[in-house]
Amino acid sequence: AILQGPQLRFWEWLSTYYLCSVGEIFKAVVPAGFHSERAQVYSPKTDTFVRLTPACATLDSINEAFELVKKAPKQEHLLLSFIQSAAIDDARIPENGEVRKKELLEKSNSNAAVLSALIEKGILETYEKPASRLQKYEQEIQPLNALNVFQLQAYTGIKQSLLEKDVCLLHGITSSGKTEIYTHLISETIKNGRQALYLLPEIALTTQITGRLQRFFGNQLGVYHSKINNNERVEIWNNLLSKDACKIILGVRSSIFLPFGDLGLIIVDEEHEPSYKQQDPSPRYHARNAAILLATMHGAKVVLGSATPSIESFYNARNGKYGYVRLDKRFEETELPLIIPVNTKELKRKKKMKTLFSPLLIEKMQETLQSGEQILLFQNRRGFAPSLTCRTCDWTPQCRFCDISLTYHKQSGRLTCHYCGRTYPLPHACPECEGELKPIGFGTEKVEEEITALFPGVPVERMDTDTARTKKSLEDIIFRFESGATRILIGTQMISKGLDFENVSLVAILNADGLMNFPDFRAYERAYQLMSQVAGRAGRRKRQGEVILQTSHPEHPLIQAVLQQDYETMYNLQMEERELFHYPPFYRIITINLKHRREDILSKIAVDFAGLLRAKLGDRVIGPDKPVVARIQNIYIRKIVLKIENKASLHALRVILEETKNRILSQPDYKYLLIQYDVDPV
Ligand code: ADP
Ligand code: ZN
Ligand code: ZN
Repeated sequence: AILQGPQLRFWEWLSTYYLCSVGEIFKAVVPAGFHSERAQVYSPKTDTFVRLTPACATLDSINEAFELVKKAPKQEHLLLSFIQSAAIDDARIPENGEVRKKELLEKSNSNAAVLSALIEKGILETYEKPASRLQKYEQEIQPLNALNVFQLQAYTGIKQSLLEKDVCLLHGITSSGKTEIYTHLISETIKNGRQALYLLPEIALTTQITGRLQRFFGNQLGVYHSKINNNERVEIWNNLLSKDACKIILGVRSSIFLPFGDLGLIIVDEEHEPSYKQQDPSPRYHARNAAILLATMHGAKVVLGSATPSIESFYNARNGKYGYVRLDKRFEETELPLIIPVNTKELKRKKKMKTLFSPLLIEKMQETLQSGEQILLFQNRRGFAPSLTCRTCDWTPQCRFCDISLTYHKQSGRLTCHYCGRTYPLPHACPECEGELKPIGFGTEKVEEEITALFPGVPVERMDTDTARTKKSLEDIIFRFESGATRILIGTQMISKGLDFENVSLVAILNADGLMNFPDFRAYERAYQLMSQVAGRAGRRKRQGEVILQTSHPEHPLIQAVLQQDYETMYNLQMEERELFHYPPFYRIITINLKHRREDILSKIAVDFAGLLRAKLGDRVIGPDKPVVARIQNIYIRKIVLKIENKASLHALRVILEETKNRILSQPDYKYLLIQYDVDPV
């Protein structure tokens, strides 16, 4: 069997809730080597070993063997080295008198030709043995860090609340030691003989946390992220199915699908992170919500942790569905950073913004560099400029296949579509009127260019999906910053996610407005979370850090909430709107994306589809509308949104959706329609 425990039941539930098939889940989560029709995909890793041939496996014959090679000193040396390594002595030949070929050759400073000679003489032979790809931890295991008094209170609070409830929200400010509390909870779980799953939103975090957990748990820990290859995936899977399965899995969202035998605890760290939601392909599940269900099936408990909880989770804590524990002191009682707003609109009016950096920020950067500390600059756009436009006629380069303007990447000298990935050469002038093209807005590349001009010779790096394409390059960037080699790190939201840097005393949010202006009901919640999280990277350990927040609306209520580091105000403001406009947590949202190659046909289908739904669901149906990007890869998109009461029957809804779909697809003109559901979109 490749499944165990409640796995199949879990998948069935997911398929009902997320309106997909169990087959889609199976395809997405079971590693390729397990799909029976492609069984050859998995190739076990093997190691070559060396042992005595059966004919040569007695003490007498070993003596004879030495006679045979006494005129060949290299062979004699290698044989002797083998005898030593295999722990063969005068008295006995151990049953497993074998040595890894690579080690033997290295240790004896010999080579394959010498070994071949010994094989030809019938003395030694080689053979293959399966080897594990899972990394081994070989250092000494350390005891857990003792919790300080606040952490201990939180820990006891969590345990207390989990006596009655299945889920507890740990609302702990950045650097309060949530991770330390998790390690204690995990340790207790595995002492009771059960397994723990530690979920992280992002691969960027796994390296730091892996290091921290391995010190305490050694090889009881298995790591599962999106960049491990299929062979490693198969081995973790096999390991979990075996009788000495890993006790702890640290992983990204897809690890909820692993074959756990007996989970006792699931930690969802940074539970507010949108990357817990799978976007494409189906199943479009939310790993936090799915984890809570998985836990129920195992009789396990869940701890959600965040400094800026999602509105949904905080709501569930408020209404008593989840336990709630707060941790308001940073470890070593460092103050939360001081956030200083800077009004960029005013500065621009007075012509004092000569670069992307306000005079105050430049001054602070100089001070920080002088004192030997580090700087983080946050700008949530990659590339040089999000778009170009003609000074004369306002023409803007667009992707030929998507309805979106192209991002200018100066280093590659090209225009890139961030939806389909196509790149285009940079036009010298406007193709419509020959006018001059100017960049609109700015991204991390431009920040880097200006920083380099401002601080020549200071080591600067950029962390975004362009520079951190692989896990290795990402780890290198993090390592160089941790080690102090890089002094200024510029990044997108990648730098906001729970990374723990000790020497950062200054953080800047270069353009807060850009975070807030999204046509999405979660835009303010998300902006609050991003800004607080980024700010939280300042002044961990040691002393209070500073954050410069550049905005053209310092008086905006959301900016005010960020400045006061006042989560509840943000929550209350958002809750009013959510209730008024029928959004989560009061209502459940389901987006239906309709896709077709022909826009004229799609427009008609979308109206019909929405009409059929409206006949059954009334004003719970919104749309059809054109989404912000209404064409991707030459496929047109229309969007219908359902706002459904939380208590409504999912089964009844599913039936209505099925019927509607069948009626639409039965019309011959409509047959090439693609329908995608997104339940609880983020
Ligand atoms: P959070 O997860 O809440 O952001 P961390 O667990 O990363 O906080 O803690 C912040 C820093 O303080 C880390 O470097 C961590 O090792 C250290 N720390 C926190 N609590 C303790 C403790 N009880 N003993 C030793 N170090 C601690
Ligand atoms: Zn023009
Ligand atoms: Zn495109």
